Amino acid sequence: MAFIQSVFWSRLDRLAIGKANLRSSLRAHRPGVRNQSPTAVNRDVASPDRRLLNCLFAGAILAGAALMAGAALMAGPAMMAGAALKSRPVGSIAPRTQGPAQSHSAFPVDIVAGPAPQPVMADGRARLLYELRVTNFSVGPIELLGLDVLGANGTAPLASYRGEPLEKLLFTVGPADGANKPRIIGGGRTAVIFIDLSLSSGDNTPAELGHRLTLSIQRKNGAILENTVNGPVVPVVRQPIPVLRPPVSGQAWIAFNALSNEDHRRALMSVDGRARIAQRFAIDWMCLGPDGRLFHGDPKSNASFYCYGVNVLAVADGRISDLKDGLPENAGLNEQSARQVTLDNIAGNYLVLDLGHGRFALYAHLQPGSFQVKPGAAVKSGQILARLGNSGNSDAPHLHFHLIDGNSPLGAEGTPYELETFTQIGVLGGPDAVDNGQVWRPNPQDKPVIHRPEFPVDNAVLVFP
Ligand SMILES: [Zn+2]
Repeated sequence: MAFIQSVFWSRLDRLAIGKANLRSSLRAHRPGVRNQSPTAVNRDVASPDRRLLNCLFAGAILAGAALMAGAALMAGPAMMAGAALKSRPVGSIAPRTQGPAQSHSAFPVDIVAGPAPQPVMADGRARLLYELRVTNFSVGPIELLGLDVLGANGTAPLASYRGEPLEKLLFTVGPADGANKPRIIGGGRTAVIFIDLSLSSGDNTPAELGHRLTLSIQRKNGAILENTVNGPVVPVVRQPIPVLRPPVSGQAWIAFNALSNEDHRRALMSVDGRARIAQRFAIDWMCLGPDGRLFHGDPKSNASFYCYGVNVLAVADGRISDLKDGLPENAGLNEQSARQVTLDNIAGNYLVLDLGHGRFALYAHLQPGSFQVKPGAAVKSGQILARLGNSGNSDAPHLHFHLIDGNSPLGAEGTPYELETFTQIGVLGGPDAVDNGQVWRPNPQDKPVIHRPEFPVDNAVLVFP
């Protein structure tokens, strides 16, 4: 059923650009939310204001989406470039001086990139996820004809996108313009290109990524002018990637909305005046029971879901840097429309674990009153932190987990990590069947595969130690 699909697919995620009504989010947002001290957070939970914000996570995203779209338009390219630079301690992106052999172009676009990608292994291949934002500085439409991603000088492009494959990467900020092709960027508008570069196992990871965009514009006399523009050069982050233990244990956990899924990946959300993708590498974890189902009995009851109440675990040694408790839960499978989602309640009851080196782990939608740690506490890898729940913008019990580069659930950039080991016993063909209560079983012909260390692919069914 389409609705159920959207339920499970949205969860925390649905901040995505252009999808929602931000008003509640704006209203609820408080200055200083980004770097609240744990103490401040707790006080806030106890405040009467909190009572207004019933539920949480997915809705917040929605709220954020609309906000973000507006913010991106108004902020303009210069601000966006600044955001990219500030948000990454490493791999900042600067314009490259053009060599004498390169042509210059006065084509009326502004292209910014970032944050700099860090390679993450998934299914045996290195993946580089990042975005380009192309703003049309003219009054008339511009058509994006092609994008080449370039590695070392003089070699063939690492990837080239034209036609439909290019369209699939694009999202135009602001209202949908159904009459236009997705590759048309209207006058004054910004398109976001969501790049997911997959390198072959034999490829060396490039030190930086160049971009060549082919664009066209119609002149006043009606003639079509086509031009090639050299876009920003993006450094590839070289620092070691965090290798974590899983946030849950046992079997059989499904990595919903994981790598390549658009809901998390494209959840651009504006927080404190800057549009970021905190959920770039987020996963919604749910588990199957012995009967191969997500739930048994009435799906309107949280207790019917096998994952409900499961312990969530510290993915590494760290310190609790933010925590929110006290929000009520939704009842089992529920409709997002019944929730009033704001930035304050979107993640529901959550905690942030400071892993050091500028990396923070978010655990969202937890059960109220289930926390076994306090703000500021030092925790050890594998330690029980709380119980999986259904609070905030959550369509059904699940754990939303992601890594970010700041102590803010959504006001930071999502960063990659790898799980130290897991056994993949299959991949769902899609979420619909299990969302509808159907049984999933591994294909007897597919042997379990041990991965170490890697990031799970979308809809992978995994067993953890
Ligand atoms: Zn999520």
